[in-house]
This record gives sequence, structure tokens and C-alpha cells, in this order.
Amino acid sequence: MLGLMMDRQLTITSIMEHADRYHPDTEIVSVTNDTPRHRYTYAEAFGRTRRLANALIDYGIGAGERVATLAWNDYRHFELYYAIAGIGAVTHTVNPRLFPDQISYIINHAEDRLVFVDPLILPVLEKISDDLSGVEAFIVLTDEENMPDTDLRNAQSYEGFISRHADRIDWPELDEKTACCLCYTSGTTGNPKGVLYHHRSMVLHTLIGISPDGLNLSVRDVVMPVVPMFHVNAWGLAYGAPAVGTKLVFPGPKMGDGATLQALIEEEEVTYSAGVPTVWLHLLKYLAESGKEVSTLKRVIIGGSACPRSIMEELEDSYGVYVNHAWGMTEMSPLGTVNTLKPGMLELPREEQYAVRMKQGRPLYGVEMKIVDDDGNELPRDGQATGLLKVRGPFICSEYYREDTPSDVHDDDGWFSTGDVGSIDAEGYLQITDRSKDVIKSGGEWISSIDLENAAVGHPDIAEAAVIGVPHPRWGERPLLILVRKEGGDAGRQEILDWLKDRVAKWWVPDDVVYVDEIPHTATGKIQKTELRKRFKDYVI
Ligand code: ADP
Repeated sequence: MLGLMMDRQLTITSIMEHADRYHPDTEIVSVTNDTPRHRYTYAEAFGRTRRLANALIDYGIGAGERVATLAWNDYRHFELYYAIAGIGAVTHTVNPRLFPDQISYIINHAEDRLVFVDPLILPVLEKISDDLSGVEAFIVLTDEENMPDTDLRNAQSYEGFISRHADRIDWPELDEKTACCLCYTSGTTGNPKGVLYHHRSMVLHTLIGISPDGLNLSVRDVVMPVVPMFHVNAWGLAYGAPAVGTKLVFPGPKMGDGATLQALIEEEEVTYSAGVPTVWLHLLKYLAESGKEVSTLKRVIIGGSACPRSIMEELEDSYGVYVNHAWGMTEMSPLGTVNTLKPGMLELPREEQYAVRMKQGRPLYGVEMKIVDDDGNELPRDGQATGLLKVRGPFICSEYYREDTPSDVHDDDGWFSTGDVGSIDAEGYLQITDRSKDVIKSGGEWISSIDLENAAVGHPDIAEAAVIGVPHPRWGERPLLILVRKEGGDAGRQEILDWLKDRVAKWWVPDDVVYVDEIPHTATGKIQKTELRKRFKDYVI
């Protein structure tokens, strides 16, 4: 027997309409290429969103067609998120930090008809425009007055594009499984692969994301997403904030600038933020140098790569900012786990609490997970066994967009292989120890490069650390520690090894340490271990 409840579709449009009606006065504040501090309300934002939607329809963008954005976190990007999806088309967010040939690959693969681009990112596209023959026009995210000179095909300003259009629209009634946005993984192996979200998955991800043990968003918060809108939907914050009426503060192109972040936090009374570990390093460095405060900031979510304990402690002990560690991936919309403490854990002694809090967290409702051995057998949830992590759920990608070859990460039984290796403890806390391609196997046992890196950056002289496995005649592989020193730091090899001896299992302590000026990163800020392995392939320990 079927239940007798209304069949209202779960759409992004419904989030927008809710915010428009119940939170019209909530502010959105942005730093943009053309204004140091733009501010308007949700009501104004969605009025302009309707103009943009009419402009897109008038241009001829039809249901299911892809429209690309190469943009920072700001109000125009926010309008694009809602207008494109609202008319039944697909917002294809492109990461401008990818290599140029990756950008042209994914724009061509997605067959984007229009590209909306921030003026600061124009030079990236100008270099590859000959390869982008399928793109009909480039819309530059600025007004007529600030429109830069460019040879890009049919270039025009965003404000010009939307200006002649009405701010009234009857949004189409969309099926909730209509595609709404598209994001490519950065493709550390092979070509980037497209993850095509639908309205239903985004709404479910939003509802679960805003819950107390998820991102925990409230109408009383002021949120500053420092995680980019061009990569995995800004972890859902651009949907979660309107769903509950949270004021949004967008740092625009200044995401990596500690001074701007600090000023925005203090002046806009930001209570809550989210971003990858390196962002917090920039902010902490600026705070230490300037002696300034972040007095309103209460919480940050840190994920994207493992959060070093030193960042967590400094934010908490020096600035009173509570950190929740989180884990996810593009294929998961992206939230998988968030680390919040279970009843009783708040009373644990500091060290025991940190032992829990350094883990990646517990799965949100809607995310099933298990770890398996090399033969696919499920491993115990005892916090000891480590294996390949598999996930399944209604906001997890079922297959990649237009992939010609069958993917080896989607199993016949409906599970998705994350490529991460970790353990799950009896309380349900996931701990990621490595990417499967980065694991170091020494004498048949796994050594966690993440744990070693975390321990190394805890040393006051160390800015960044990476651990890779190098061949060893007796043990198969041994860890090599690659370090970047902080300015003025002079800790030598032996001092670091002694530091590690007190913090990790004895047989994990790396056999050697090398110092470099810089560690290579991927476009999403992760350490590029493939590059390091290439560089140190002949290293003899
Ligand atoms: P990419 O940057 O490669 O496009 P994602 O942003 O989807 O892809 O990255 C997802 C991966 O990032 C995860 O599979 C995991 O390896 C890593 N990751 C994300 N959060 C964490 C975390 N808190 N700790 C360790 N690794 C993490």
C-alpha cells in the first residue's frame, strides 16, 4: 500500500522560494573583482536570479543544457547556482586552478554552451579559447563600466546580459531527478570525471548538512564559505544557508588572504566558516603577525584533507574557535562524515578527546559505509582493522557523466569505492589513513602517511609535511619525510626524528628526512604525491 502524502518534488528552486519568502532581509555580503564589499539581501539576490533565468531562457538555454562558471565565491556566482538549475539546465562549476588542458577537456566534455567567467580568470580562458570551439559566448562577471578588453568570442558583461530582463518568472515544475549541477573530479589519474548531481540529491544533502551533527547551520549564524563554490558545491553551504536563512559572507577572490578573512569576520560578525586546512594556516599566520582577533567566530569545519592537530589546537586555544573535522568527496556531494562528540565524550581528558576529534567523524544519515579487504570482504568496525572504504547513499554518484569506459569504482552491488583507506571504530568514527594509491606498505604492514604528516607539522619549525613510500630492499617500502620549514625555522633531521619518536609507533618513524622549498599541490590544494614520487623515485634510503 502506498502512503498518502503530497508528491512535492525536492528541488533547489524550493530552497530559493523558501528563502525568498521567509528570509528576504537576510544579507549576502561579497568581496568581488569590482567592489571591495558588495551587500544586498536574499530578496534582491533572488530578484536578480529571476532576471538571469529570463536572460538564459531568452538566449535559448534549454532543459538539460550545460552552462559553465569559472568564478570565485560571490553574489553573482550565487545567482548562477540558482538561475541555471531553476530553469532545468545544469550549472557546471569549473575549477579555474586546474591545468589549462584539463579546463578545456572538461568544458568540451560537458559541451558547455555559455561560460560565465570572473574577470580575474579571463587570462586562463584567453589562452585556451581556440580549443573551446563549442562555447558560443563568454559572459564576464562584471558591469559594462568595468568590462575588460578581451578577444573571447561574443564576450559581454553579466550586468549587460541580465539588465533588460524582467524579475518575474514562473519557475518550471521540475522532476526532482532533473540534473542541476556538474562538477569534475580533478583527475589525479586519467581524465577528470564528471559527477552529475540532481535536485533531489542536493536537497537531501542540504537537509542532512544543516542538521546539528552535520554542518549545524542556524538562522542566528553568519557563515563565510571559504571552501570554493567552484569545487563540490562549497560543501553545500550555498544551499544550506538559504534553507535556514543564514547571512552569507563571500570572500570572492580573497579566499587565501588572511587579512581579508579577518576583516570580514570582525566587520560582518561571522560566527561560522568552512575550508581546507591551508586556508586556516593563512589566517593563523596573519593573526599571529597582526595581533588581531576573530572575536565573533565560534566554529569552523575543516576537511578536504586531514586537519593537523596543530591547526585545531591553535584555533581553539588561542582564539576560542571550535573545530569540527569532516571528510567527503566530489562523488558524495560532498559530505560523508563530520566529527562531533557523542554524549559523555566532552568529559574525557584532553588527550582522549583529541584522539577522537582527529578522526574524520561519523557518517551523516544517508551515508552508508564499510571497509573491505583486498578480496572485498567486510572488515570489523573495531578501530584497528584498516581497509578500502566503500560508501552508498542517495547523494552519492551512481556513475560518471558520459564515461565511455566502465568505471572500476562502482561495484555491481551498488557500492562506490572511495579510494580512501581507513578504519571505523565501534562508535562509528571513521579514520582515514591514506589514499589507496598513497599507502606505504612496510614489511607487510600499513604505515599511515596522514598520521606521520600530522605529527610532523605539529613541530613548531615545520610549515608543511608530506610522506611517501620509497623502495627498500628489506621492508619493501619505507617512509620518506619531505618537509618545508617555517620562516626562521631551523629544526634539523635528528630533531624531527626525535620529535616523531614520541608521537608515532617506532617502526613508523621515517628512515630519512629531506627539506624542500615547496611541496607541489593539486588544483584543490591537496599534496601532489604523484609528483613527489616521480621526483624521489631514485631516492636510496
Ligand atoms: P579532488 O580534489 O581530487 O577533485 P575531492 O575534493 O573530491 O577530489 O577529494 C576527496 C578526497 O579528499 C577524499 O577521497 C580524501 O582522500 C580526501 N579528503 C577529504 N577530506 C579529508 C579529511 N578530512 N581527511 C583526509 N582526507 C580527506
